[in-house]
Amino acid sequence: MKVVVTGGAGFIGSTFVRDLLAGKFADYGMTPSKVVVIDKLTYAGSLRNLTEVLNDKRMDFHQEDISNTSAMASLTKDTDLLINFAAESHVDRSIENADDFIQSNIVGVQSLLKCSLSNQVGRFLQVSTDEVYGSISEGYWDERSPLLPNSPYSASKASADLLVIANHKTHGQDVMISRCSNNYGPHQHEEKLIPKLITRLLNGQTLPIYGDGSNQREWIHVDDHVRALAYLSMFGEKGEIYNIGSKHHLSNLDLCKLLIELTNVQASRIEFVQDRPGHDFRYALNSNKLKRLGFEAEKDFTEGLLETIDWYKKDI
Ligand code: NAD
Repeated sequence: MKVVVTGGAGFIGSTFVRDLLAGKFADYGMTPSKVVVIDKLTYAGSLRNLTEVLNDKRMDFHQEDISNTSAMASLTKDTDLLINFAAESHVDRSIENADDFIQSNIVGVQSLLKCSLSNQVGRFLQVSTDEVYGSISEGYWDERSPLLPNSPYSASKASADLLVIANHKTHGQDVMISRCSNNYGPHQHEEKLIPKLITRLLNGQTLPIYGDGSNQREWIHVDDHVRALAYLSMFGEKGEIYNIGSKHHLSNLDLCKLLIELTNVQASRIEFVQDRPGHDFRYALNSNKLKRLGFEAEKDFTEGLLETIDWYKKDI
């Protein structure tokens, strides 16, 4: 089985690659003979995330942009599965300037779809996000909910989702979309909320929180997310969308308080800062479709946070 992983040097993509090569998905029948990792190595990607597997003879790394169609056409030949993690992923950056988001998250996905179609790639899995549904004040979004993105980031991801589905409807291409909630775990870039809070706590700095901290997110450990993706790749239905959630719902303020308790650092204090423009109040997923397929996230939240804190302690 040849697997192509685009964006494989980022936080979630590199976790997928390390776990795949460590045989963690063998129970699902996923045992690759070849893993091609493609990543542009933007500020968010690093080969440090792949240190453990760089010498693995089954893996090839290529520093390339997914919107380079001729490079993608040659790298995606004879491929059984392509999982696309490559994206500009930080909402705040998309508010400052959305150009790179349009290029990588929309034009890049079109390039991958086109090459996958012409090379008859066995299956194309687009890693998307719950943010495409926008904010929900109560209840839960399921896969048939409307796309109501509010940030340039989520709008670019929603655009890609539409292209992916259109390719299935038009060409019968074997595609799938996963929409996951907020991830946390080792190797995440420090611009993201949990690593930012942990590293600032460990350095004795203040904890900046947007608005009054009442915004709610659903947190899933990255190990659960990548297991779900492996499971979907093997058992999901062609042309379908699957939400991947965890049921760990928390306000940003409660998350701060929990991290203060778990790091046992007294000196730090919470600092409320001006809210992000268009800040979504609440994300919450209905993941019953994935559950019916036989998969549920299982990582304990407190345990996952403690392990993550330990990882950042070693990294500082
Ligand atoms: P990340 O920013 O850590 O990694 C993205 C990777 O993509 C980086 O290695 C970067 O170098 C690479 N990349 C960016 N543009 C590229 C291009 N044009 N060509 C090739 N490589 C390129 O992001 P992440 O948190 O690992 O997220 C991975 C995917 O999962 C993204 O598509 C994101 O939308 C999605 N997602 C993330 C979360 C989350 O909480 N982090 C939740 C749901 C979905």
